[in-house]
Amino acid sequence: VLKKLWIKGFRNFSEVHFDFSEKRHCFIYGENNQGKSNLLEAISVLSSGKSPRESVVRYLVGFDHSEALIGGDFVSSSGVNRVYFKLSSEGVRSSFLNQEIVKSYTKLSRELSSVYLSADLIRIFQDSPSERRKFLDMFCSLYFHDYLATMKKYERVVAQKNRLLKSEVSDDSFVLWNRQLCDLAYVIYDLRLRGLELLSSRVNELLGHIPALSEGRVSLRYDIKSFKCDLLNYKAVLYETISSNLYKERASGCSLYGPHRDDFVIYIGDLESMRFFSRGINRVLSILLYVSHLLLVFEHKGQFPILLLDDVFVELDEGMKRSLISLLCGYTQVFYVSVNESDRHYFDECAVIRLMKGVLTDG
Ligand code: ATP
Ligand code: MG
Repeated sequence: VLKKLWIKGFRNFSEVHFDFSEKRHCFIYGENNQGKSNLLEAISVLSSGKSPRESVVRYLVGFDHSEALIGGDFVSSSGVNRVYFKLSSEGVRSSFLNQEIVKSYTKLSRELSSVYLSADLIRIFQDSPSERRKFLDMFCSLYFHDYLATMKKYERVVAQKNRLLKSEVSDDSFVLWNRQLCDLAYVIYDLRLRGLELLSSRVNELLGHIPALSEGRVSLRYDIKSFKCDLLNYKAVLYETISSNLYKERASGCSLYGPHRDDFVIYIGDLESMRFFSRGINRVLSILLYVSHLLLVFEHKGQFPILLLDDVFVELDEGMKRSLISLLCGYTQVFYVSVNESDRHYFDECAVIRLMKGVLTDG
């Protein structure tokens, strides 16, 4: 839990000091372009060394400053800690945890971690299959011990096979590669199915807390995009498809079939949610799906990260906002940004910050 925060020379903040110690959650409001997202970004840097929206360190330093300082006091399982980050306009980062230089950000994130979610969250589930695959792969990598290693092996096999597909070797040269590819593909597919199962059931549990949606039954269904197959015979049908379509793969010079092309689809009852339900409903589902992923991963790892919510609830009605905020506040510390002052009433209790041009005014 973050108790205090100092920011100096970061983005549009000259020097500000926040004390949340009395209240757990924090509501931040203000007009457009005042520094609300910058504030969440500062907390993100403090807990991971990285900004969720800018990879070039020097752009984070205030225009009239040569360095930025972000500091915070937080309470973790190991007690009260103080962390500092220095960012220089030359792009150098350094940080200190309880006066000692931080060498590994992974270690720091075990003490203090945060997740930044913006209104764009819905795009993970709405846009191209690759975004959904990334989400599912990230979940499986964090949840299943062997997933990441298997995925890397699979990618190496696909890359090697792609090189061969562009060369003049005989068709027989592909037999072994295809066998290996299918073995690994099956492991990935199987773990992804289990991952989807876990996520679906967690989402349904969370839906029980949203009165307007508690009747709905969500399922996440694996979608084999590149070939026709019922889910039981994945490995055999994949091998058969790859073998009989080698000429197509040779013509295109790349592997056309397998988990690197697969996807998943969100259903409510028997209807595809992105196709037949409203944006608001899909936004809620996206949030619940992301939170389910965090819950499943952090049940193992201990502390649930601080949630930095940057206008995540746009388009949602009052009842929905109220239910979601009370649900999320029950799991972790929440920082919530909005342009509407009235959103503060969704919190039972919270610190209130009003930002104007990077300056704190009375909440
Ligand atoms: P919205 O409600 O529209 O999302 P916001 O309050 O979240 O607005 P931010 O993105 O936090 O706005 O802040 C934008 C402001 O930060 C702009 O005025 C911009 O000029 C300023 N800004 C961004 N980077 C820097 C920097 N490196 N130095 C100084 N000011 C900066
Ligand atoms: Mg913003």
